Amino acid sequence: MAELIKDLEILDNTEEQTADYRVSAEENIPGQKKLYIETYGCQMNFSDSEIVMAVMQQNGYSSTSNMDSADLIFLNTCSIRENAEQKVRSRLDRLHALKKKNPELKIGVLGCMAERLKAKLMEEEKIVDLVVGPDAYRDLPNLLGEVDEGHKAINVFLSREETYGDIEPVRLNSNGITAFISITRGCDNMCSFCVVPYTRGRERSRDAESILNEAKDLFAKGFRDVTLLGQNVDSYKWQPEQGERVSFAQLLERVALIHPDLRVRFTTSHPKDMVDEVLNTMAKYENICKNIHLPAQSGNSEVLDRMNRTYDREWYLGRIASIKRILGDDCSITTDTIVGFCGETEEEHRDTLSLMEAVKYDYAYMFAYSERPNTPAAKKLKDDVSEEIKKRRLKEIIELQGLHSFERNKLSIGQVHRVLIEGYSKKSEDYLQGRNSHNKVVVFPKENYQKGQYVDVLVTECTQGTLIGKTV
Ligand code: SAM
Ligand code: SF4
Repeated sequence: MAELIKDLEILDNTEEQTADYRVSAEENIPGQKKLYIETYGCQMNFSDSEIVMAVMQQNGYSSTSNMDSADLIFLNTCSIRENAEQKVRSRLDRLHALKKKNPELKIGVLGCMAERLKAKLMEEEKIVDLVVGPDAYRDLPNLLGEVDEGHKAINVFLSREETYGDIEPVRLNSNGITAFISITRGCDNMCSFCVVPYTRGRERSRDAESILNEAKDLFAKGFRDVTLLGQNVDSYKWQPEQGERVSFAQLLERVALIHPDLRVRFTTSHPKDMVDEVLNTMAKYENICKNIHLPAQSGNSEVLDRMNRTYDREWYLGRIASIKRILGDDCSITTDTIVGFCGETEEEHRDTLSLMEAVKYDYAYMFAYSERPNTPAAKKLKDDVSEEIKKRRLKEIIELQGLHSFERNKLSIGQVHRVLIEGYSKKSEDYLQGRNSHNKVVVFPKENYQKGQYVDVLVTECTQGTLIGKTV
């Protein structure tokens, strides 16, 4: 068991956490052109790649997981931090060799980097044939037509309406149990550090009926866990032609009512918009998972003001108090934190550490500030915290979070958690893994259980990142 615990340890305490890219699935349909998609960045991008694959399948392409055999390669990119863009640049360098071997190979850059850099990307990266922003995926077949005629093609038009609501996503590398459903696109908040409003455009909500239909369809196909996605889910609103406006809490309730065996999760909640109505709805339905991702970004009110987050430390702590009041301790809370934002003093940094102590997050995504060109912070503030200090502060918060994650996980020892099985544990086929309502990975001996089943697991041990137990 000690070895298993060592193998399962997932938190790296020294480096900034970076998300890997994900690769499209192998379909292997003879006679069809093959599309390979690599997706970088957030869940929203991953969900977009599933839309892209749907558009391309309708146009005669099948999905491949092997870039060497692809006719077309898409990199669906992220711009959130500089290192996310660097990863794509070095990937493009490596694609040179493939293109040399197969001059017919076409390469497209999609997503946030395409939107941010536009035609400049094609000038800088000669092997790129097409550049397509996040709102232009319906145009992909036309753009490929231009490429086939020997031209380079670009569409980075940002829409005020596009939600791809009518497109049924093709699930990529799916475990058949969990799926993402986009409910909003874009963002209207102007956090001064963030590139998202410029790369993904204005916020718009998707038709509630199309969301419900997608969730029902997933349930009918055997999926048992859906995550509703948006940059700021609490600002979801849909006005049908007839009838009343649908708020996020109402949408959540309607998805939860599809079936008690369908688990519902959502992300991300913005502290300024998270209302008690959502918390009350969560409390009412057992199948709405008890986990709230409520990014604080900083624990200091002046820093939050410079970040233009439009709340302060007291407001944030008030929201945490509401979660505890309405959901008790039966709710995990996670956050995003940035260290070394413009002008951050040692004292301001200590406020972030003290906020972490006050909340005791179950998990946190932690980042060093990375200046993004043309954001309000880049235009008006000075990126004046040295890399060395950013690194040290990041290390401090990662270490503290490690202690808190472990402390929080230890509270589960001796408790029985309902777990939806998602597949084999990463390291051993003798063990299965799934997640509990708190979105924590739980590992237990396989016995005769199957993917997609719910089981009750008595937690007997834990690490910072994983609960370990046996079924009861
Ligand atoms: N919409 C979500 C919200 O408001 O919390 C988050 C969206 S963003 C894709 C994910 C996280 O990346 C942010 O919460 C923030 O912590 C981090 N992030 C965004 N811009 C950043 C930057 N310029 N440097 C470092 N981290 C950044
Ligand atoms: Fe970026 Fe702020 Fe919008 Fe989140 S809420 S996507 S951090 S601008």
